[in-house]
Amino acid sequence: MQYDDTFAHRLNVVRQRVDEAAIKAGREPSEVKILPVSKTFGEDSIREAIASGHSRFGENRVQEIVSKQEILADANIDWVMIGHLQSNKARDVARYASEIQSLDRLSLAKTLDRRLQKEGRSIDALVQVKTSTEPTKYGLDPADLPSFLREVARYMPSIKIQGLMTMAINIRDEQAVRACFRTLRELRDQMRSEAISGIVMDRLSMGMSGDFELAIAEGATEVRIGTALFGKRPYGDEYYWPENKK
Ligand SMILES: *Cc1c(COP(=O)(O)O)cnc(C)c1O
Repeated sequence: MQYDDTFAHRLNVVRQRVDEAAIKAGREPSEVKILPVSKTFGEDSIREAIASGHSRFGENRVQEIVSKQEILADANIDWVMIGHLQSNKARDVARYASEIQSLDRLSLAKTLDRRLQKEGRSIDALVQVKTSTEPTKYGLDPADLPSFLREVARYMPSIKIQGLMTMAINIRDEQAVRACFRTLRELRDQMRSEAISGIVMDRLSMGMSGDFELAIAEGATEVRIGTALFGKRPYGDEYYWPENKK
């Protein structure tokens, strides 16, 4: 294996780019975390990432969390669900994930809360908000966010909201991408000023391999990085990422 083929090397490169983007935006590099997205990658790749000091991994299919948590049971991993979740699979997230960043509708929140109560657990959650005009993207409509947060705070005690998540529009236009990230930050600030009891609005999960520097410029506290850390995924995006199908 060549040196630049290792996870450790790619992590150094990404971390440096993250730090530079933060400094350029007048922010502290320590304010921006990296969430490695291990979807489609297997045990060996994940153990390499663990050896580089990571213990939290993002996955977009709950089935992958179920199988990987078993194979990697010795490693004490915090699994983070970042993909669209069908309500009939909420039980597996309640059981195996430490966090969900793709909480995008009330019906899912209700089911998940019920499942969590059965498991005697609670979960950290980010609300996925739709900030782009692309018709195929999941996410809560920004207009519904205040009432959504109030409902969760009042009736769903096992769901601990910590902030917001978004996926930017998937095009090359930097201004359009950046506008999505800015929208999320402004929503976070608005929701903060409403100070809904029980709701924390500290975190902004936004930015992926192709656009994380723009997200950091707009205030990301966490970037979700797959390809730039693990390499190119073995299947095309449509295979594992149906919501992005063109
Ligand atoms: C796959 C995925 C990512 C990471 O994408 P890369 O472009 O490989 O960095 C981030 N967020 C979500 C929701 C994903 O499904």
